Amino acid sequence: MIVKNNYDVIIIGGGAAGFFTAINTAEMCPSLKIAILERGKEVLTKVKISGGGRCNVTHAEFIPKELSKNYPRGEKELLGPFHSFMTGDTLGWFEERGVAIKMEEDGRMFPETDSSQTIIDCFTSEISRLSIDVLTSHPVKKLSKTENGWLINTGKEELNATTVVMATGSNPKIWKLLETLEHRVIPPVPSLFTFNIKDGRITDLPGVATEASIKVVGDTKKVILESEGPLLITHWGMSGPAILKLSAWGARLLEPLSYSFEIQVNWLLYETQEDTTEQLLRLKTKNAKQTLHKYAQFELPKRLWQSLLMASGISETEIWADISKKKLQNLANQLTQSIFKVEGKSTFKEEFVTAGGVDLKEVNFKTFESKIHTQLYFAGEVLNIDAITGGFNFQNAWTSGFMVAKAIEASLKIS
Ligand SMILES: Cc1cc2nc3c(=O)[nH]c(=O)nc-3n(C[C@H](O)[C@H](O)[C@H](O)COP(=O)(O)OP(=O)(O)OC[C@H]3O[C@@H](n4cnc5c(N)ncnc54)[C@H](O)[C@@H]3O)c2cc1C
Repeated sequence: MIVKNNYDVIIIGGGAAGFFTAINTAEMCPSLKIAILERGKEVLTKVKISGGGRCNVTHAEFIPKELSKNYPRGEKELLGPFHSFMTGDTLGWFEERGVAIKMEEDGRMFPETDSSQTIIDCFTSEISRLSIDVLTSHPVKKLSKTENGWLINTGKEELNATTVVMATGSNPKIWKLLETLEHRVIPPVPSLFTFNIKDGRITDLPGVATEASIKVVGDTKKVILESEGPLLITHWGMSGPAILKLSAWGARLLEPLSYSFEIQVNWLLYETQEDTTEQLLRLKTKNAKQTLHKYAQFELPKRLWQSLLMASGISETEIWADISKKKLQNLANQLTQSIFKVEGKSTFKEEFVTAGGVDLKEVNFKTFESKIHTQLYFAGEVLNIDAITGGFNFQNAWTSGFMVAKAIEASLKIS
């Protein structure tokens, strides 16, 4: 085995975090010799397919504390770094490089071209402008400490680097390797998934969407998870931001249940069963001669309203005046506390995100440097950080990449 090359900084992983780290490091420290090692033949493959090919680069949330709340794992740790680099900085960074970013109604932000290729082109041209080596088909197999830094083994060759940045995403082999370097890795479990539900109340309603709040209640009747927001009924069960949020925050809780659990849906968001019964009694007086099926109430989609009526034992011909209090209570129950049995999960638009990774306790979040080894940094999904959908996962890649670059720059000034 020949030692082929020496670098000041080697970044392992040619994804979003790896490229952002490399470009910022090269810009802040022009004297450094930098390389990205990528195991695959192509780089930035996830960026390419992200956001349905449009790349949801970040989210229009400009308050660090609010932004951090979108990270079920990493909320506390990212708060400080967001004060150094967050959404506005991301927009400025891309704009300075000629990439205009637009915002959609729900806050997601995309390149104005609606093409992830714009982001890839921006990165590629920066890489060549800054003379960063990108070595594809270089799968890192071993990493060992040397007197002055690190020896990196790809099976075919060895490379030396003073500083190593791990930006390998959710790769179990690299997590194993990091364990041999005394790092603790939180075992990976899926995050961001939709719920499989077979239930007569929603079978005929795919495509119906409404705002709802959802709870998962534990054995002791304590609420163990809750979320609210748009809920979408699908052919397989339920999806939409309210479900995805629940799946992300519940990633660790739901895995030991083998994704078999009950959810309680309040189709009226925060209304209580008692208040809803009162409102239904008032509607009974007001709409006495109307059939209940004719007009949806509470601004619910009509097909959902009708389905909940059927589930409460109220037929298509019944008019408000004839409805018993018991049936109205059943309806209030369906409206505010519908129980659904979840049996399994599905991937959300192939956007598989993993919860798990390098234990955050072992990382200094002022620098993203390992607390166990000096000159070893982490950026992106290799850490036990993940977010709900909406551009937050890339924001983590940009923030951590920038912070690593800053830390490398600062370490140069000291030495
Ligand atoms: C289909 C899909 C769509 C998504 N859309 C969005 C979106 O629109 N917005 C958003 O915010 N998030 C999105 N995400 C999540 C986002 O893509 C990730 O959070 C982000 O890519 C993480 O960046 P990363 O650089 O840490 O890891 P990755 O992008 O996974 O990059 C890691 C790189 O390291 C390489 N590597 C791994 N092991 C080695 C090794 N041993 N040696 C050398 N190289 C190695 C990998 O091949 C890979 O290229 C999406 C995810 C998916 C799957």
